[in-house]
Amino acid sequence: MEFNTKTIHGGQEHDKAYGAVMPPIYQTSTYAQTTPGGHKGFEYSRTHNPTRSALENAFASLENGKYGLAFASGLAAIDAVLKLLKPGDEVISTNDLYGGTYRLFTKIYEDLGIRFRFTGMADAGKIEDFITPATRLIWVETPTNPMMNVIDIETISAVAGKNNLLLAVDNTFATPYLQQPLDLGADIVMHSATKYLGGHSDVVMGALVVKEKALADRLYFIQNASGAVCGPMDSFLVLRGIKTLHVRMQRHCENGRDIALFLKDHPGVEKVYWPGLENHPNHEVAKKQMRDFGGMVSFVVKGNDAEKAIRAVEKLKVFTLAESLGGVESLAGHPASMTHAGIPEEERKKLGISDALIRLSVGIEDVSDLIEDLKQALE
Ligand SMILES: *Cc1c(COP(=O)(O)O)cnc(C)c1O
Repeated sequence: MEFNTKTIHGGQEHDKAYGAVMPPIYQTSTYAQTTPGGHKGFEYSRTHNPTRSALENAFASLENGKYGLAFASGLAAIDAVLKLLKPGDEVISTNDLYGGTYRLFTKIYEDLGIRFRFTGMADAGKIEDFITPATRLIWVETPTNPMMNVIDIETISAVAGKNNLLLAVDNTFATPYLQQPLDLGADIVMHSATKYLGGHSDVVMGALVVKEKALADRLYFIQNASGAVCGPMDSFLVLRGIKTLHVRMQRHCENGRDIALFLKDHPGVEKVYWPGLENHPNHEVAKKQMRDFGGMVSFVVKGNDAEKAIRAVEKLKVFTLAESLGGVESLAGHPASMTHAGIPEEERKKLGISDALIRLSVGIEDVSDLIEDLKQALE
């Protein structure tokens, strides 16, 4: 099955009771048994729920994996991966990381005895310098947030394989439409389904997909034992969102390209970060591992003027000033004071996150309206 067909049919079957084309929302916590243990595969909805199972099968299909798991949020999905580890274990992680992931790593798991080593992963060979006998996991986010660095998954996976380490990839920004990390050698793919998979800014949810049964079994155990699952209504909404993932992503990419090119030539713009631009430092890697370059575009306002950047995002009318990304509507954010305010200023500077940086999640509106909006805001 090709990808576009999979978004609609992957892992799905028609409802057994009445042939409903969309899986019913099984809004139930428990299931009747005829005799103790005599049930139809469902006992309790923390463990399994038919609507959630349909969604989990869709996740697995989209990422070319075998097993999908849905969680109450993206961070709950990351939390489940970290629970594979024990005190004393070490993780090597991308340094330019979603702020909430960084907070979970450094403010919760570091206190529980897990050690994190952060590094830029543009040069995959350098990762080997960070490996110690205690290293268990490599955590990669690509493209990164908000600097849009692209990390070569295949090269990192070779390092992980050689050293017997798990490789997990946060695929939230790219989505499986643009890249499928399991095919490039990753062991675990993670999503904040809140973003492009859900696609309509109406649900908070997380996902994991894996290929190997033993790893899946451990994660299913953690999912059930820790209990950060999503509800049936949210499962239904994300499943519905996924059915248009391919057409949405195609438009996000087209609009993203037009906006990146518009900003690149705008006199009020200092610098544009979008992996599709030929002068992007990781453009070649992006070309190799991604089908297109996505709808996330970051840029710095001329003169690195933070005041100007804040005034510009306040003036936007079609773009909404808000956190989050990946919905049909265009959003703009000011990372230094919003999504990345939790990262110390010194760290931000090291990562190149200027106080005049604006991050756009380009939606699927008419791009002419989006460009007009940016024009008036940058005046
Ligand atoms: C939003 C996001 C997360 C966290 O997901 P939630 O659903 O908000 O918990 C993790 N990684 C990336 C790249 C994100 O954008």
